[in-house]
Amino acid sequence: MNYKKYAIADIHLHLDGSLSSKVIIEVAKEEGIKLPTYCLHKLNKYLRVPKNCQSLNEYLERFSLPNLVLQSKNGLRKCSLDLLERLSKQGLKYCEVRMAPQLSTAQGLTQKEVVETLVTTFAEQKFIRANLILCCMRGKDTHEANMETVELAKEFYGKGVVAVDLAGAEALFPNELFQKEFELAKKYQLPYTIHSGEASGAKSVESAIKMGALRIGHGIHSVEDKNVVKLLEKHVICLEICPKSNLDTKAIKSYSDLPFKQLKEAGVKFTINTDNMTVSNTELWKEYRTLSKLGFKENELQEFALNTIDAAFISDAEKIVLKKFII
Ligand SMILES: [Zn+2]
Repeated sequence: MNYKKYAIADIHLHLDGSLSSKVIIEVAKEEGIKLPTYCLHKLNKYLRVPKNCQSLNEYLERFSLPNLVLQSKNGLRKCSLDLLERLSKQGLKYCEVRMAPQLSTAQGLTQKEVVETLVTTFAEQKFIRANLILCCMRGKDTHEANMETVELAKEFYGKGVVAVDLAGAEALFPNELFQKEFELAKKYQLPYTIHSGEASGAKSVESAIKMGALRIGHGIHSVEDKNVVKLLEKHVICLEICPKSNLDTKAIKSYSDLPFKQLKEAGVKFTINTDNMTVSNTELWKEYRTLSKLGFKENELQEFALNTIDAAFISDAEKIVLKKFII
C-alpha cells in the first residue's frame, strides 16, 4: 500500500521537538552555545526520548536542549527553515507548526520579535505551505506571558498565525487554570486547539470543549467517557492524534490501545500527526505506516488525511487544492 501518498499534512507538530541535530549543531557553533556533544550521532541521544521514558513529564525534559538554539532571530530562522525543508522533502504539502514564543525569550528577544521572525521566515520560504500556531504554556507563572501570546496571535492572525494552543504538563496544570487565556482568545475570535486527554483523562477533554477548543491535541482518553465522545461528535471537534508520541509518553502501552475503532464508530473525526519528529524519532509517513500495519485500509488512510485537511486552519479554497493530492 502506498501509505506515503496520504502523509501530506501535519497539523500537530512542535518546532522545538522537531529540530534536526544538524541544524542544532550549526546554530550552536555560530552562536557559541554549549552542547553536550557536537557529534551528530551522539547528539541524537540527548534529543530522542529514552526507551524507558516513564511519563509525559520525562518526555518534556527532551525539549530543553533544542530550545537553546531558538533564542535568537538567526536560530529561529535557520531551525524553522530546516524543518520546513525536511517536511517538504518527506512529501508534505501543508503543515501547522506550533511553538511557544515565551520559551524563546531567555536571551532577550521579546515574544513579538519571536513571532515576527517566524512569520517572516514562513512567508519567504518556498518549501511548503506552512502556518504557525502559538502555544500558551501550562505552569505556575505563565499567565502574564500567555496573555501576551494571545495578544500576539490576534495581531498576527491571518498573517501567518492561524490559532492558539495550550501545551505543557497537562496532569500537573489542568485546563481550568488557563480559562482567562482562552476567554481572551474567544473574545478575539481566534481559533484554538488545546492539548487534552493525553496525560489526563476524559474530563480534561470535556473542559477543553467547554472552553471552546475547535480541535483537541491528542484527546485519546476521551473514549473513557461516552458523554465526552458524544460532545466531540456533536460539535465536530477533531482529535489530533500522534501515535508514536503517545507510545513514548506512556499515554498508551501499545498501538492497539489507540481508540481508533471506538472513535470511528462514534463518528468522531481524528487526524494523524507526528507531534515531535525528533524527540519521537518519527516522520508523518511512518505514522501512516503504523496505521497500515494496524490493519487500516487505503481508503481509511485517505479518510484520515482528508480529516486533517478539513480540520486545518485554512480556507476552503486551500483545502480543495490540498485534497487534490490524495483523491
Ligand atoms: Zn503536542
